[in-house]
Formats: sequence, structure tokens, C-alpha cells
Amino acid sequence: MALNSRLLGLAFASADTLVEIDGEGRIVLAMGAAPATGHAPEANWTGRTLTDLFEPRSAGRLKQALANLTPGNRSDPLDLLYDLGDGAFRRVRSRLFSLPELAPHCSCALTWQGQPFSLEPTADTPLVTRDDLMRQTSSLLAKQGPDPLTLAFVDVTGLDQVAGDQLETLKTRLHSALQSVSVDGTSASHLAGSAYALLRRDSDGSAVEDAIHNVAALEGVDVSADIRQVELSPGVDRQATLRAMRHALEVCIANGAMDDPDITFKNTLDRTLVQMDSFRTMVKARDFALHYQPIVDLKSGVTHHFEALARIPGCDGPESTIRLAETLALIESFDLVVAEKAIQQMLQPGYGLTRVAVNVSAGSLATDTYGEALMRLTANHGDIRRRLSLEVTETATILDLPGTQRRLARLRQAGFRVFLDDFGVGASSFDHLNHLTVDGVKIDGAFVMRAIEDDKSRTLIRHLVEMCGGLDLKTVAERVETGEVAELMLKLGVHLGQGWFFGKPEPQPRLERPTLAATSRRRGAVESWG
Ligand code: C2E
Ligand code: MG
Ligand code: MG
Repeated sequence: MALNSRLLGLAFASADTLVEIDGEGRIVLAMGAAPATGHAPEANWTGRTLTDLFEPRSAGRLKQALANLTPGNRSDPLDLLYDLGDGAFRRVRSRLFSLPELAPHCSCALTWQGQPFSLEPTADTPLVTRDDLMRQTSSLLAKQGPDPLTLAFVDVTGLDQVAGDQLETLKTRLHSALQSVSVDGTSASHLAGSAYALLRRDSDGSAVEDAIHNVAALEGVDVSADIRQVELSPGVDRQATLRAMRHALEVCIANGAMDDPDITFKNTLDRTLVQMDSFRTMVKARDFALHYQPIVDLKSGVTHHFEALARIPGCDGPESTIRLAETLALIESFDLVVAEKAIQQMLQPGYGLTRVAVNVSAGSLATDTYGEALMRLTANHGDIRRRLSLEVTETATILDLPGTQRRLARLRQAGFRVFLDDFGVGASSFDHLNHLTVDGVKIDGAFVMRAIEDDKSRTLIRHLVEMCGGLDLKTVAERVETGEVAELMLKLGVHLGQGWFFGKPEPQPRLERPTLAATSRRRGAVESWG
């Protein structure tokens, strides 16, 4: 085989199209695949100036690279937009090299990227939702591509200078442009305002910049983009990393941290991964405590049961850690060890009749695992099942109501009681009550605290109690801080009360010594839930 053919073979092994240009930049030889048709490009290219084939800004960069090229050297790869005419483009990666014996001629190797795309406004290139963006991130991280996956944050500046009518067209074009330079042409998403995020297999944002510049040129407006890219690495635990990424993305958006989204994202991601790790360690070592707060029968003043509330070392209150654990899907194992600890407490001598409620996040009821584990934990303690109740929290996140109902029904059948926690705060509280069979509801503390002053809260509670009566459900008023509120709740027909007025959460359930008035019904030692 002639040396020439061998060299050609080698050259084509790393590029789709090879071009030779003379000292004036005119194409003297072109071979390989053409950008759109797949046919050989010689016919239309020979004699043309190479830089004329590209979109103006790409052409500028190519010109610059040609000017810097010295005989015997090779340029860095350049990402360019090839102009197919009629507003259509195709991305191409190019590399220049200059053989000393051919100078001033030089060679250009082109590798076509993605599919040709148009910046004409079309309705069929809508941006994807953030959920879809995360789904795609997940599947792309699973496939090892040759180039690392990057998340590009794009802030389009100058949109506020564009008038109403034109803005719509401009945005449609922008969306097409962003999609076209994203992985598979389907992974660009709108974050907030002028901020977008897209997945790329390229650590250099120039193709994005070019695409946006094209849109601006087509519309004749002064719009540009600030692009920051973060390399995504799946880490050891891909699912966990993905959840942390989603959380970091949400933090970027929620904090409006669009000035430095890459820094915010990266910092939040790193911090979240550390937090996940320490949460897991904390759960594994059971390195937390439960405090017990009495829930009192408003009529008799007798403790009906105790709510077990987690106390996590180093945290002011458990709420923020628990909400993060919910977001990161780590809550199930935690809720389970909480139940385990509560059961241990209930089995202590002297606590034989004590009833306890544990919180269980809706997320923990999204699969069968929690319920099955709880059944195993209590397999040898039938009475524990009748003494333990579950407060379903964060009901806003219940996605699968029939599945949750099925799991709760199984637990209720086994003897556990179920309450809906924080009732009334979420828009879907009533929907949940309609679909889930429970034993009672806990009226959110916000209503209870307002009830003395606020007529509306009182009316709401009164109607809620009436409705619960009709459904044969127990009602619990949360955050009863004063005797006045306790009395009001009793007057409104609420059965049980919980709050500082009756007692704060304490390391042990506070069992009252029998008094003359209540020898047969000690606090914390009531025989039935009725
Ligand atoms: P929650 O289940 O609604 O618990 C009641 C919260 O109200 C507790 O906050 C309690 O300390 C507080 N509280 C009680 N009485 C009063 C009062 O009179 N006034 C005021 N202002 N607050 C009162 P805490 O312990 O900070 O727990 C916050 C939330 O964290 C809980 O709300 C629950 O959603 C969650 N949580 C706590 N432990 C667990 C757990 O083991 N698993 C899960 N999934 N969530 C838990
Ligand atoms: Mg609760
Ligand atoms: Mg509550």
C-alpha cells in the first residue's frame, strides 16, 4: 500500500473530512463527508475560502487560529458552526496542521458533531423540564462517553432590551439554539429568568456562545451569554450523587444564585455529598436521641400518648436535616431506626402500657420497605403494634396515593394507628384525607396558635373537627402553648392537645405517678386509643 493511502487512512481515522487550503485560505483539496448530505464535498468547496463556510464568529476564530499556525505545528481543537444556509447550521470540531514541506498550504481536519440544526423559530424544540434534565443526567452518567459530561449554566444577557413581540420569537430561537448545542439536542432546560442549564460533552462553551450569537445576529439584537460549566462525575453512589445534584440545582434556583451558578452548584453539591455521608453515618451508628412530648386528652388532662421527636447532635432542631434527608431520599432508613429506638423505649421496664407516636415521612411510605421492616421489628411484640402510632409527615410529597393507602392499610390491619401530621398546611390535605384511611389528624400548629385572635382559624378548626367527627377520626391540636388555647381547643371539640402547655419534649416519656384522682388511669398508661 502506498504511503499516501496509509496516511490518508490514518487521517480519516480521527476526522470525517480533510481539507487543504493555500496561503490565501482557499480550498485546494477537500475529501471525506460533507456536513449535511454525507456526499463528498469537493464539488462545492474547491476554490472557496475556507472561513466563508462558517458562521461569522466561528469564521473569526478560525481566521485567528490560521494566523497563529506555524509550520510543523497543530492547532488546538476548535468548535465551529458550519453554515448550511437558510438559517441551518452544523457543529464541527476542527483541527489545523501545517506540514513544513507543504507550507504555506495547511490542512484542516473536520469532525462533524450532532445533527444539522436550524435556528428558525419552531414549536418542536421546547426546553425540557428540570425533572427531565435530571433524568437525562442520570442516563448519560450511566453511559461512559468519551468526553466528560458537563452541566453548562447559561445566563442570557440583554433580553430586557428586547421589545415584547420580538422577545417571543427571540426566545423560541434561543431555545432551539440551546437545545441544538446540548447533548442529543434534548437536554436544555430553563432555570429561572434568563438562566438556563444544559448538558454538554464539551468543556468549552464556545459552541453555545456561537449558537446564541447566531440568534442575536438573526434577530439583529444585542444579546450575549455568560456561560459557566461544571464537570459532572457520577461518584461511587450514582443515585445519591444525582439527588445531591438535583438539590444543588434547586438551591441555585431558590437562592437566585445565578451570578455564580457554577460556584454555588459546585459548593452545594460538595457540601451535600458530605452531609449525605454524615447523615448515613449518624443513622448507622444510631447517633441521635428521641425526646418524648406528651399528647393529652383535653377533657381529662390525662396523657394519651407521647410523640417521639428526633434530636440530632449538632443540629438546633431536627427539621432542616430531616427535610434534606427527605429530598435526598435518605429518610426511610432514618424513620426506621427512629421506630426501632422508640420500640426499645417502650419495652423498658415501667413503660408497659405507654403509647408512642413516631413520625414517618411520606417518602418512607413510597415503597413497601419501611412497612415490611416495621412488621419484622414488631413480629414478636403484638402489643407494640397496638401501642405504636405513625404520624405521616410531609404529605405534600405523596405521589402514589393508592400505593400509600395500600401500605397504610396493611399497617393499620396489623394494629398500628395512623395520623396525618400538620393537617391543613398543604393544599392537598383534603385530597389525602379522601384517599387515605387514617385514625386521626393533627391540626397544624399554625392554625392552633392563631385561633385565639383569628376568627377564620377558629372557624376552620371547628369545621375540621366536625368533618373528622363525621369520619370517626381523632383530632389533635398541635402547639398548644397556653391554657387559654387548650380551653379553646376543647370548646371547639378537639380531642387531644400537644404543646408546651402540657410539656416540652423530654429525653424520657414523663410518666406521672398515680394520683388519687387518676389511680386507674396513669398518664402515659392508657389502655386503648379510643
Ligand atoms: P412535627 O411532627 O409536627 O412535630 C411537632 C413539632 O412541634 C416538634 O418540633 C415540637 O418540638 C414542636 N412543638 C411542640 N410543642 C410546641 C409548642 O407548644 N410550640 C411550638 N412553637 N412548637 C412546639 P421538632 O421536634 O423541632 O420537630 C420538627 C419536625 O421534624 C416534626 O414536626 C417532624 O415533621 C420532623 N421530625 C421530627 N422527628 C422526626 C422523625 O423521627 N422522622 C421524621 N420523618 N420527621 C421527624
Ligand atoms: Mg409529628
Ligand atoms: Mg406536626
